[in-house]
Amino acid sequence: RKAQLLKYKDQPMVTQDSHRVTLLANVGCLSEIRHLADVGADGIGLFRTEFMLMNASEMPTEEIQYRLYCDALQLLDGKIFTIRTLDIGADKELPCLSLPAEDNPALGLRGARYSLAHPELLKTQLRSVLRAANHGQIRLMFPMINQVEELDTIFDIIEVCKTELVDEEQGYGDLSYGIMIETPAAVLNLPSMLSRLDFISIGTNDLTQYTMAADRTNPLLTKAYPSLSPAILALIKMTINTAKSAGIPTSLCGELAANPNVAAILVGMGLDELSVSPSSLLELKSSMRNHSLDTYSQWSQQALSLQRLDELNDYVSHCN
Ligand code: PEP
Ligand code: MG
Repeated sequence: RKAQLLKYKDQPMVTQDSHRVTLLANVGCLSEIRHLADVGADGIGLFRTEFMLMNASEMPTEEIQYRLYCDALQLLDGKIFTIRTLDIGADKELPCLSLPAEDNPALGLRGARYSLAHPELLKTQLRSVLRAANHGQIRLMFPMINQVEELDTIFDIIEVCKTELVDEEQGYGDLSYGIMIETPAAVLNLPSMLSRLDFISIGTNDLTQYTMAADRTNPLLTKAYPSLSPAILALIKMTINTAKSAGIPTSLCGELAANPNVAAILVGMGLDELSVSPSSLLELKSSMRNHSLDTYSQWSQQALSLQRLDELNDYVSHCN
């Protein structure tokens, strides 16, 4: 099977009727980027920058981060490069940072909230990304954004960074900006944020956790709250429609999309891009060719009409 799939390595992801879907990879380090050619990704849809901190004894300097992003750009050779700013907190603990003790870390200072509480740390990252963008196109996205005020503050800090870089004669490159859609509030508040954004990416791992109020790492809950459910599908559809009405492309980078049957439904719903772990890419390319966009669109309408978990999961298990 694996050998069979290899023939899709240099093929794009298309439906039977040649509708093109951008297929990207979720990665956390350079060695994973080196292997992306083996599966023929269109680039990176999610670079989890907090991974660079996993084994670090101290926070990487601007220079170290700058070099990391430049190395990634070089390896990608013009392919899509989406950097996510540090997603610290909750399930992502890091030895080089002392996180505050919180009763509910998943509902606490995490993602962009952590970055905004530590602007010097955010600035270091923003400056290194802006400098790296001198050498290639970069998309930058922010995790755990709920409302437009958070974006306003981030963009104010970006302006400060740009002014500094010009004064220092380092220069900067223009970025594309996006947010992760990881909470119901982000879905509902999206209209107010779209004018500031070039793209969005739905993070279904967290969107599920925060919609269901079900800890994503708690094995007691996984059966009652599977990744595919009527509520999540409805939120994804709502997000795609809102973004489409403003002409903003929608990506999805949760592991939900790694299931080829679910990917068919998502593409049928109008998703423009999928980003999953590299090991899932070839299978997705292979299965997406089985049917036309029209078929996927009909399947997605049917799926959206199903109101029970078991009905929905049973239906989708036949969508291939
Ligand atoms: C998500 O929440 O769906 C996501 C892709 O981000 P992470 O798994 O890194 O939280
Ligand atoms: Mg997340």
